[in-house]
Amino acid sequence: MTELELAWQKLVATARRTVSDGLVVGTSGNVSVRVRDTVLVTPSGVPYDRLGPHDLVAVDLDGEQHTGALAPTSELPMHLAIYRHTDALAVVHTHAVHATAVSTLVTELPAVHYMTAALGGLVRVAPYATYGTEGLAENMLAALAGRTGCLLQNHGTITYGATLDAAYDLTAQLEWMCHLWLTAHSVPGRTPSLLTGEQLREVGERLSGYGQQPGRG
Ligand code: 13P
Ligand code: ZN
Repeated sequence: MTELELAWQKLVATARRTVSDGLVVGTSGNVSVRVRDTVLVTPSGVPYDRLGPHDLVAVDLDGEQHTGALAPTSELPMHLAIYRHTDALAVVHTHAVHATAVSTLVTELPAVHYMTAALGGLVRVAPYATYGTEGLAENMLAALAGRTGCLLQNHGTITYGATLDAAYDLTAQLEWMCHLWLTAHSVPGRTPSLLTGEQLREVGERLSGYGQQPGRG
């Protein structure tokens, strides 16, 4: 299997996971992965369980399609904007329900949990713009400054990382935190406590050493 074929296989598996984990319904959302100057993306409006090895869709960083018969995701502007402006190698966009609910209520997800630091700090909400437009990509880029994910007002989530698994995990954590905030925030007569900037900075430093570190033992 070539490097691109392997990357496509992982991309399709990730896209299917967004559906099986309940982060999207139908053909909502999209996923991409960068291999050098090539970006593999999910095709627009095609159920992920129908995608096979021959459906590979590849574009360059200018959005020019060089492989595949299926049209690329309508959100190509958002995916390409991230690859042009960050060191991202994978991007995941979903319509996760709690995250989308939060995007209609606030301009920033309150810091109810320390995992806020895993996304680089307070998660912003990009102002609404029509799906698939350069305007949405611009609003998203501004909301992403210094962050690895943001909410899209009345639309959903977008996160990026060094691998598909990393980008996917940030989406799952973000959706979980939105669920947490909605739960705590809806207790009548009580207001959730929030973490300070200093507390988040401390966690940010600590998270860089979280989990299994290479070279241990
Ligand atoms: P695509 O099917 O074109 O990827 O669109 C889904 C979506 O989430 C648009 O915002
Ligand atoms: Zn969308």
